Amino acid sequence: MQQLKNYINGELIAPQSGEYLNNIDPSRGEVYSYVPDSDERDVEAAYEAAKAAFPAWSTLPVQARADYMYAIADGIQKRLDELAMAECVDNGKPLWLARKVDIPRARDNFKYFGQAVTQFDNESHDMGEMGFNYTLRRPIGVAGLISPWNLPLYLFSWKIAPALAAGNTAVAKPSEITPMTGYLLSEICIEVGLPAGVLNIVHGDGPKVGESIVKHPGIKMLSFTGSTRVGRRIAEIGAPMFKKLSLEMGGKNANIIFADAEYEEALKGAVRAAFTNQGQICLCGSRILVQKDIYEQFLADFVEKVKALKVGDPLDEDTKVGAIVSLMQLEKDVQYVEIAKSEGGQILTGGKRLAGPTERTAGGYFLAPTVIAGLDQHCRVNQEEIFGPVATIMPFEDEEDAIEKANSTPYGLSCTIWTTNLKRAHRTAAHVEAGIIWVNSWLVRDLRTPFGGVKQSGVGREGGMEALRFFTEPKNVFIKL
Ligand code: NAD
Repeated sequence: MQQLKNYINGELIAPQSGEYLNNIDPSRGEVYSYVPDSDERDVEAAYEAAKAAFPAWSTLPVQARADYMYAIADGIQKRLDELAMAECVDNGKPLWLARKVDIPRARDNFKYFGQAVTQFDNESHDMGEMGFNYTLRRPIGVAGLISPWNLPLYLFSWKIAPALAAGNTAVAKPSEITPMTGYLLSEICIEVGLPAGVLNIVHGDGPKVGESIVKHPGIKMLSFTGSTRVGRRIAEIGAPMFKKLSLEMGGKNANIIFADAEYEEALKGAVRAAFTNQGQICLCGSRILVQKDIYEQFLADFVEKVKALKVGDPLDEDTKVGAIVSLMQLEKDVQYVEIAKSEGGQILTGGKRLAGPTERTAGGYFLAPTVIAGLDQHCRVNQEEIFGPVATIMPFEDEEDAIEKANSTPYGLSCTIWTTNLKRAHRTAAHVEAGIIWVNSWLVRDLRTPFGGVKQSGVGREGGMEALRFFTEPKNVFIKL
């Protein structure tokens, strides 16, 4: 069985412990490769390599760094099918989704930040007779990058590309649950001749590898995407060390459907927003709020559409909902269904583990897409992030009530608003507490925009020039004439 390796100082090497963790294919429930069980010694070696690579990398002409980003993007494109399969097997998501969305978006992250860094300006300010000043934005040093399992290569590359393009070197850790695409990325970096030590990928679990990165005194900035629980832990360690932090965390996003919405669009959109990637996207609209005038009809149509979603083998082209990423996550989803029942919720469809849909997937982790009604907005199921194919639905009275319900959780990542009333769309968007709002759409991405949440969903922003600002430090110089 394949043993993955760490990528340190330009080479693929075994972890110093010699130990490995199981990498499980969730669609079969079977171990299919081994992940390095690295520790602080591997992080230290990665840090030393990144530190040594920094002087040369940070002073390369910007175009040369951009060219490396383009080369990595081309490398991803060449191996798109292989990467999509790796992502599907690691994660349980439908293969077509990885091929169509995840891997092309990872490729585009490298392309975009290659281009963006060539457009990243330093500023100067004229002070008239007195003089002038200029602000240089310089790379900082070694970046620590930690990412989750739900969009493995896509989110990993969204940190790596801006960090490197801006001139930093990095010690990066993908999720131990989905390490394969990170491993293949290290092969691509070797193929394109990325200088040794510029990017180092250390595999392993969070408390050992992740925390060693967070605690390392030489790593001055940390970009993390994952749960609010782990984000809080990283802030507890990093803040007293005055590290620069970008934390992208959990969500409990509202999907608001006004009675004047284009009905069919909103219906299709609500199903997609709740169940794409098995509901395992931080931006999923898992709380569906429907104006009372259309609530009963919408509920019936929504449940009918959800029942028709094909839960299937992730390799099948017509599968809409694949496997849940791990047994632990599946058990968590099922536990929340039980909590919903105890809170008085009605399970309108789903709520149960399903047998694997084919012989090949007989031992896999599958859950029927679940819709729950009848819950109060303040109950646990409507307040806590579940991160699976489990959606709640509830009625609201008017705009004010919709906004109050949307804002009633500790999270504030995204919100979707369905309406044909222009003023209502703007008013609602202005009052919902979230970093990202979609009107009559969901999951549209523009790489130039700042991405992130408010409240317990995030601190800092990714994407666009915001990311390049995060990975650089401004230095201001005053010149007296
Ligand atoms: P997680 O927090 O369990 O793990 C994320 C990463 O942190 C993994 O690589 C893990 O190994 C590492 N880690 C765990 N403990 C650590 C520690 N003590 N110190 C340092 N690193 C540690 O999250 P997950 O289960 O992999 O992913 C699901 C979560 O990610 C959900 O909450 C989801 O909302 C969130 N998410 C957020 C965004 C966003 O942009 N806001 C995007 C995707 C996922």
